[in-house]
Formats: sequence, C-alpha cells, structure tokens
Amino acid sequence: MKRTLLIIFPVILLMGVLLTIFTEKHISSDKDYASDKKIIILMYHNLIKDNEVDEDKFKLGYEGAPYLYTRKESQFLNDMKHIKNQNYQVISLYDFLEIKNKKMSLSRDAVIITFDDGGRSQYDIAFPILKKHGFKATFFVITNRSGEDGFMGWEELREMAEYKDENNKSLFDIESHSHTHLPLPPKDEMGKWKEAVLFELQTSQNLIKKEIGKIPRFLALPGAGNWGRGDEDFIELAKESGYFGIRMWLRKTVNISSDIYQMSSYPVLNKTAVPVPIEEWFKENHEK
Ligand SMILES: [Zn+2]
Repeated sequence: MKRTLLIIFPVILLMGVLLTIFTEKHISSDKDYASDKKIIILMYHNLIKDNEVDEDKFKLGYEGAPYLYTRKESQFLNDMKHIKNQNYQVISLYDFLEIKNKKMSLSRDAVIITFDDGGRSQYDIAFPILKKHGFKATFFVITNRSGEDGFMGWEELREMAEYKDENNKSLFDIESHSHTHLPLPPKDEMGKWKEAVLFELQTSQNLIKKEIGKIPRFLALPGAGNWGRGDEDFIELAKESGYFGIRMWLRKTVNISSDIYQMSSYPVLNKTAVPVPIEEWFKENHEK
C-alpha cells in the first residue's frame, strides 16, 4: 500500500503541474489572440502630383467626378505620416491571415493599406512614400490592363514585389483584382456565370504567377457594386481557385472573427478628410 502511494502521489503531482502549465498557456494565448485591437483596411486608387491637379474639378465629389478616386500626393503623404504618428501597426493581408490562424497577434491597432486597379501613379507616387515609411501594402491589379497607358507594367510590379526593406523583408504584395474588371450580370440572368467568374479569377491568378513568380491568394472585388459579394457560390469558386480571402468595400473595420472571404474596407477618396480619419472610422464602426 505504502509503495503504491509512493508511486501514485508523484504521478498525480506531475499531472497537476502539467495541467497548470497547459491551462495557463492556453489562457494567455486566448488573451493574446482574442484581441481588442482594431484593424482597418484602407482602399486607395489613383494618386496625382499636386501641381497636376485641376483644383476646381478636384473639389467635385459625386459619382462620375474626374478625381473621385484620386488622392493628391500631399494628401497621401499626410495620411501616411498620420499612420506613423499614431503608431498604428501596418500589416499585410497575409499577416491578417496569420492573426486569424492565431499564429500572430497584434500589439496595437493596425492598418492594412491596399490599392486597386494597378494605376501607374501607385508606382510613381505611392511606392517611394511607402518605402520611406517602411509600410507594407497590397496592390490589386487588373491583369489585362498591365502595361497599358496609365497602368503599371509587369516590370514595375516585379520591382515592387521583389523589393526588400533594410531587414530584408518584402513589403509589397501583388494580388488579383480580376482579369478584366468585368461587372458581371446578376447570377440568375447569366448561364455562363460560373465560367465567366472562373475565367476572371484564374486568368488573373495565372498571369500574376507567371509574371511575378508568386501565386496571388487575395482578391479584391471589382466595381463598387462588388459583384459576387457575400455570394456563397462565388466564394466557393474563389476558394476552389485557391484564394485565401476576398476584400470588399463596405466601410466597416475587420477583426479576428471577420470572415476573410468578406473583408470590408474604407475607400479613401479625393474628398476624404486629410489626414485619413482612421480614429473616426474606428469609432463609427464601434458604435454600430
Ligand atoms: Zn477597381
């Protein structure tokens, strides 16, 4: 009897210690990951040098206005300085995936910077500013426009994708904004819906892989209408095509529990306040 107790006690003690360690680790992980940190995805389009702007037209803010999706260089500079001054963590969409998979946690509120369409000004104006700040960014390109007048060519896109900062880290991801930016008709009106979507998703993916050497895993839905938005069949096709996530346009923040196939973002337009009012947007979202 004594002998049995002598064996059992240390075993129970050991189990107790192990359980305590496991539980503590588990709790501290949950605390790290069930983060109260906020994330906002910014969506930029074109940029323009201040001295090239027609100021009267720039003030127009309605749909169809020539500069609606354009940010002046000075505005963009102010936005980036603000992000730096407020000490936001600038993360990539791949980082967000890591956060969702609990492989990374945030130490402070974060911003994800994205650009749509692949306009040439993103290379000429945004790229140097982002490099200077050491900010990560995602460029969603319309692959059949690459190299056209006013758009970045594969050479520029490669240069950004291959760029490494002083810590030898890549900062820029080239991702898909579909092949032709085709606004698809409603699903029920189009028998070829599936075929057309697959063409858009896969052609852009293959081209980026061929030209950049890396398979794009994120998709930004083209058009403010966000074709396919939240549509289960559409999301299934994106998944089948190997996409890890979809960025949309719905003026909401994201967090660890957001659906990565329905990530909302905030468009930063010509009339958007300078610097970009991130705190206001966090608050607006919080109050909803
Ligand atoms: Zn677009």
